[in-house]
Amino acid sequence: MIELNEAVKSARQKRPRPNDLKKYISCWKEKDVLGSEIVDSFVMILRTRGCAWGLSSGCSMCGYINDSARESVGEEDLIYQFQEAMKKYSGEKIVKIYTSGSFFDEEEIPVSVQDKILNVLQEKTEKVIVETRPEFVKTERLKGINKIEIAMGLESANDFVLENSINKGFKLDDYVKAATTINDLGIGVKTYLLIKPPFLTEKEAIEDTISSAEKISKYTQTISFNPINIQKFTLVERLWRNREYRPPWLWSVLEVLKNTSKLQGNRLMSSPTAGGTKKGAHNCGKCDKNILEAIREFSLTQDINHIEELHCECKDHWQYALATENIAKTQGDLLRLV
Ligand code: SF4
Ligand SMILES: [Zn+2]
Repeated sequence: MIELNEAVKSARQKRPRPNDLKKYISCWKEKDVLGSEIVDSFVMILRTRGCAWGLSSGCSMCGYINDSARESVGEEDLIYQFQEAMKKYSGEKIVKIYTSGSFFDEEEIPVSVQDKILNVLQEKTEKVIVETRPEFVKTERLKGINKIEIAMGLESANDFVLENSINKGFKLDDYVKAATTINDLGIGVKTYLLIKPPFLTEKEAIEDTISSAEKISKYTQTISFNPINIQKFTLVERLWRNREYRPPWLWSVLEVLKNTSKLQGNRLMSSPTAGGTKKGAHNCGKCDKNILEAIREFSLTQDINHIEELHCECKDHWQYALATENIAKTQGDLLRLV
């Protein structure tokens, strides 16, 4: 959709360019699950040239490109970043190595560097998780790589939403082909689904996420629900500043988790970035902390009891919002934002 594409690009124009190519973006530790065991994981984000789609246009909610170099980062610099980040590694069983783009995009990370990183990690750890867009999933590249899980941001299994709300740049079918390739090689798939893409009402967004999870359940082992958070220099940020977008309620996140918990064979999780703040999924401010903790516990244990009996007076406001909010924005609204 050309108008949405232009609106996304326009929102990104003022972003500054980072210039230290030797500096990884960030790293931290967090809990995750390996088999049925709760374990520590180590997360690092390397600074590459950035997501190919983000460089040419980008998704309406994604500000990851803000941290990317936006110029080619050489092999030496990439390895240096990796080695620097690994100084903070202390034997965690899972390592997540992200690039704010696609690990298997050779323009971001040359194959020789991909191999070096994977070889080191496969010796040190029990599972490596990388992210990629579907177009970079190739059987030849993945053959022989062990102890890996591949994460893809599908966001929605509805092609209309992918094109007209998210500006995703690929369709459900592209994801299905890539996920099938990965599964056929015996490798695990993790899929990110968005909660509340722009131009959908809260109710439509809940329904879209639930039906997306049902559609993709058989292609993925893990589904991670990502409620939108407001990232800088994005179309969603522009809508939010114009008071035309509110990040989802935490009640909506719970609604998605409860309705998808019956799916067989999927591990469900959600870790709302900026949760409880006005830029992330939030409720009234009084109950946010408890609900975020319940979501965290559910994500680690899959025990539905953690999210069943949660109450706050703001739940009535959420239900009222679902019943009365405006219908989706029109084409005219979108053009006004360009
Ligand atoms: S969400 Fe993923 S695919 Fe979309 S612009 Fe961001 S990094 Fe690229
Ligand atoms: Zn509340």
